[in-house]
Parts: sequence; C-alpha cells; structure tokens
Amino acid sequence: MLKVQRKRWKITAFSYLIEKVVRTIRQFIFGTIIGSFLAVLCVRLPRNESLLYPPSHCDFCGQRLRPSEMIPLISALRQKFRCSYCQQKFSPRSFGLELFCGVLCLIFLQDFQWLKLWHLFWLLSTVVLAVIDWDHLIVESKIFWSTGLLLLLSGFLLVPIHWLQPLIICSFFYLSQKILPNSLGLGDLWVVGLWSLFLTGYELLQLLFLASISGLLFFAYQKFRKKTPERLPFLPFLFIGLLIILLKNL
Ligand SMILES: [Zn+2]
Repeated sequence: MLKVQRKRWKITAFSYLIEKVVRTIRQFIFGTIIGSFLAVLCVRLPRNESLLYPPSHCDFCGQRLRPSEMIPLISALRQKFRCSYCQQKFSPRSFGLELFCGVLCLIFLQDFQWLKLWHLFWLLSTVVLAVIDWDHLIVESKIFWSTGLLLLLSGFLLVPIHWLQPLIICSFFYLSQKILPNSLGLGDLWVVGLWSLFLTGYELLQLLFLASISGLLFFAYQKFRKKTPERLPFLPFLFIGLLIILLKNL
C-alpha cells in the first residue's frame, strides 16, 4: 500500500515538474517572439516605416529573409550573426532584445497575475522607448502616447493612482533646469510624469536616484574612454531604475 502511494506521489511530482518546464519554455519562447517584434518597432517607427512592408530583409543587401532566418535567437546563432546571402555581420541587438524579453516574460509570467502582466507591459513599452531614445535622442511619441494611455486606463483597476506626484516631478524638472539647463528633455518629463502616477513617493525618489546614478556612471565611463557624449539619452537609465524597482516588488 505504502509502495503504491509512493509511486503515485512520484508520478504526480514528475508530471508537475514536466508541466512546469514546458510552461517555462513556452513563456520564454513567447518573450523572444515579443522581443523580435519590438526590435522591428525600434528600427521602423523612427523612420516612419510600415511595420508590415517591406517584409523583414537584410539591411545590407536587401534580400528578403526566409521564415527559417526569422526564428528568434536560433537564426542569429545558426548564421553566426551574418546575413546568409551577403555575409555581412549584423548587429546583435535583435538577439539581445529577444533574449532580454524572453527572460522578462519568464520572470513576470511565472505565476499569472494581472498586476505582473501590467508591469511586464510597462517594461516592454519602456524598452522600445529606451532603445529609440538611445539611437535618436527622442521620446517616440506614438509609442509613448499609445502605451501610456493603455497603462493609465488599466492602471486605474490595478494600482493606486498618485495624482499629486506629477506636480512634484514638474518642480524637480524646474529645479534641474535651473541647476543644469537642458539636462532633462521635455519628453523625459512627460515619461517621468506619467510613471509618477503609478509609483509611491519613495519609489519615485528611488527611480530618479537609480536613473541619475547609472547615467552618471555611464557618462564617467565614456569620459574615461575619451568618448564624451554631447547629449545623454535619459530613458535607458530610467528604464534601469524602473526595472530594479519592479523586480524588487515581485
Ligand atoms: Zn545581406
């Protein structure tokens, strides 16, 4: 009797483990597909190009990619980050985004909760804004307004809204302009203003602290390499701060 029970328990534990592994792989693959889509967004949106046309192609020779060359992570690894037609080396950024989004989905979709899904959406939309800001030093308005509105509407149901915080942000912006003119763009102000609705005062301070520290460290590193940037995008560093805060809240 005891033996039968033990066997049954082993089978249940084993099937639970298999189910968990399959779910984990599925979440990761889902994340890599999202990452692949976001990589396309980051390139095409600032150029005002359609997301569907022209279909995915090599940036060097223009050759249209076959479905086997568009599998997230695997295609880049198999082709050793080279176009299979012209052999030009392509940027590993798409690979990095696919991997990063895969890991994000793994973390935030582990035990399904609407709040975690909302946090994931917040982070993914910020990834796009951060990459575009890094490349073009702009806050992409189409992504900001569309995802911001969605965040706000769904945020009403999921998190307490701190209506007064945007005022604190405006004061911070005013002060920063007095101390360091043009250190913070108007686009950054809109982003932080929106986010401040969803963060507590302490989290907001943490966000600004983390973003400023990581930005300053990056600036010092670039200066050390004698590649002092004329202007520093702020959104990638805000993203770092937001990521740390949301991971801490998991
Ligand atoms: Zn090519």
